[in-house]
Amino acid sequence: MNEEKLLANGYRKYVGTSLDVYFNTDLCEHSGVCVKGQPAVFNLQQKPWIKVDAASNQEVTAVVNRCPSGALQYIQR
Ligand code: SF4
Repeated sequence: MNEEKLLANGYRKYVGTSLDVYFNTDLCEHSGVCVKGQPAVFNLQQKPWIKVDAASNQEVTAVVNRCPSGALQYIQR
């Protein structure tokens, strides 16, 4: 999905230096894969709750790829 489609489908954008992460709260199954996999990046206690640059792009995309619901997506720039 490109950014236009993600935003039109209810995803919010979280901007990093060279990677953007998109999250759709309506799709999230609360499996915790993201918060357990990369707690510095995905942390509900912080605002914004996704800090894309808190880990390497490879580490972030590895976790996003394991999101079981599709609630997390990314676009590398
Ligand atoms: S891994 Fe995906 S489904 Fe699980 S809590 Fe994170 S965003 Fe939600």
